[in-house]
Order: sequence, then structure tokens, then C-alpha cells
Amino acid sequence: MKNIVVQKFGGTSVRNLECMRQVLNNVRRPLANGDKVIVVLSAMAGETNRLIALAKQWSPTPDAAEMDSLVSTGEQISVALFAMMAKDEGIKCRSVLGFQIPIVSDSSHGKARIESIDDKMLVGMLEEHDVLVVAGFQGVDSLGRITTLGRGGSDTSAVAVAAALKAEMCEIYTDVPGVFTTDPNICADARKLDRISYDEMLEMASMGAKVLQIRSVEFAKKYNVAVHVRSTFSDEPGTIVTQEDTTMEAVQVSGVAYDKDQAQVTLVGVIDEPGVCASIFTPIAERKILVDMIVQNPSKEGRTDITFTVTRAELDATLKLLEGLKGEIGYKALLSDKNVSKVSVIGVGMRNHSGVAAQAFRALRDENINILMISTSEIKLSCLIEDKYTELAVRTLHQTFVG
Ligand code: ASP
Ligand code: MG
Repeated sequence: MKNIVVQKFGGTSVRNLECMRQVLNNVRRPLANGDKVIVVLSAMAGETNRLIALAKQWSPTPDAAEMDSLVSTGEQISVALFAMMAKDEGIKCRSVLGFQIPIVSDSSHGKARIESIDDKMLVGMLEEHDVLVVAGFQGVDSLGRITTLGRGGSDTSAVAVAAALKAEMCEIYTDVPGVFTTDPNICADARKLDRISYDEMLEMASMGAKVLQIRSVEFAKKYNVAVHVRSTFSDEPGTIVTQEDTTMEAVQVSGVAYDKDQAQVTLVGVIDEPGVCASIFTPIAERKILVDMIVQNPSKEGRTDITFTVTRAELDATLKLLEGLKGEIGYKALLSDKNVSKVSVIGVGMRNHSGVAAQAFRALRDENINILMISTSEIKLSCLIEDKYTELAVRTLHQTFVG
């Protein structure tokens, strides 16, 4: 069997005929090498949003399974149009929908997880065709119902197909040249990374560097598929997301990320005894509210303060819940602040370089930025700060560590 190349193109890359012609140019490259190509496409830019808005006109709370039937059509349009265009150019190809492969998922409509992909079907189809145009975002559950994989899910479709076919590389084409050391809109010095490890990318992606769906990176890591993020509109190589290596470890910090979607909650004067944290965070978890940073101060006279962060959209629900539990938890006051954000420095090199935290704190001090909360992992240092200093903090941390 010939080499199989998997290429995924996002919504801005398929938004019109002209862009689709650019996509075809990218597909021709591996074809000219004699490779077979699997092209995974997203819906045209704006189409998924349009369909979601449409559903809301018909039903205030659309049935989840019908919603998936509807929104998955965006990708069906893209693959059909692309395949007819490619056939006119003499390319042996066909479009394939998720259920035809099948890409089997669980039944959590709107955020389904892929369970298995039948590679036999794809391999069989590749005998007759040089290019298979696969609809991203779509799955099918064990009951035969169409599912979708969550916003940005075509990335995960592409990586999963690459993993199933044991392709060495999955190319993800988008409208930016690759993964940057920080947001170029904030920091003019941001530069494209040649390589980044899976773990660093997970931290960058979970913090607003929205180049890849997080789940696709988890998948790539699990099945060891290298992902090449690059631009549809240029031949320049982009960024390769892959296993950690020694050159990556030599760099202290690979990138600076930020997340403005943070809100802070403080429970003042909580009784300091076993089980208190459990009684606070269990009901929060039951409501499926995501908690990010958590800090508990040392206790004074048997009481302690507990501060944590949630997304801004979930702040009101969190406060309401905690007010209702006042008697049970036994705190003195409940405080909150929506005007906070999180800045983080990320790098696998932090494992064997000391002093990164001290250096980051000095950089923030020099700009007179107060730190509200700190959290660390092996490869990340995050500081919660006042929202209005986000851009300044990103620039100064980037200047300090990345240059
Ligand atoms: N069309 C879907 C979305 O907008 C999936 C994707 O583009 O990856 O989320
Ligand atoms: Mg995307």
C-alpha cells in the first residue's frame, strides 16, 4: 500500500470556491509524490453557527440528537462540493460521511467521544480512489444516530483517522502559519514555534491559544501521531506538535498564554476541619461547574479562607449554590470578582530549570502588577491578576522569557 497522508482543512480554508482551489493545491502535493490522501474538511466558516441559530428559531431547547443531525450537514456540504470540484480536475476521489466509515462514538450528542474507527472501510476505498474527502465533526453512535464531536471537532476527526490508518503525520491546515509563542495580536514579537510537545500544546490550547481542539491533542498524544499545524495559504512549514525531545527541554519557556474567562470566588472564615473542601467542591462538581485554580490559606484560629476560580459564565450559578449551602459549610462571607484573568508561562524546560517563578514574579513587579493567586504544575506557572493588566503582563513575560 502507498503512503497515506491525512490533511485537515478548517472553515476559513473551505469558505468559498477560491479557497477550495487552494485546498486542492495542497492536496496535489502528496498526490504528486504518489501518496494517497485523506482530506478531512470542516463546515464553511460561519455555517455551524448559522445552523445553531436556525435551530433556536424552531425550538428554544432543540433536541440534542436532532441538533446533531442538523449541524453535521455543514460538513456534508463541504465534502460534496470539494469532491465534485476535484473530480472535474481528473482526481479519483469520493466524499465520505462519518457514519459511512463508520466513526463510532458514544451517544453524548454535541460533545461525543470517538470510540472506534473501522480502518478496513477506508483502506478498501483507497484502493479505488486516490483521495477520500471525509466529513469532519461527525460520528455515529451504537444506535445509528448521528453525533457531533464538539466545536472544533474536525481536528479530532482528522487525528483519529490518522491514528486508525497509522499515518505518521496529520497535517492541520488553518488560517494562521502555526502555533505562536504567544498571541501575536497582543505581542508583536510573538514568533512561530517549529516544534512543541503534546503537553505544552495541551496547556497552550486549554488557555485560549485556540489553534487545535484540545481533544485532538490528547488523541494525538495517546496514539503518537505527529500533528503539523500550518497555513492553507502558504507553502511555509508550520509547527509540529510531537513527543518531547531534548531540544525542547533546553528551552526554559516555550510560550506565554492567557485566559480572560476567569472569575474569582472567596469563602472567608471557613471552619478548618476535615471534609470542608469536600463539602464545598462536591456540589460544585455535581453541577458540572469547572473549577480551575484553588488556594487555601493557612488556618488562623481554626478558620481558613478558600479561594478558587470558575469561568465567568458560571460565576452566578456558583455563588447561588454556595449561598444556599451557607449553613452547611459555615463560612463568614462570600466574595467574588469577575475582573480577573490568568497569565501563564509554559515550557517542558521548567522541569530542569529553577528560578522561573522568581523571574516571572520580578517581571510582574517591575510593571507594578499585583498577583492575586498562583498555581504551578511541572511545566506551567500561572498567575491570576487584574483583568486590565492582561496585555501588559503577557508582553512583559514574553519579553522576559522568550525575547
Ligand atoms: N464545524 C464545526 C465547528 O465549527 C467543527 C469544526 O469546524 O471543526 O465547530
Ligand atoms: Mg478549528
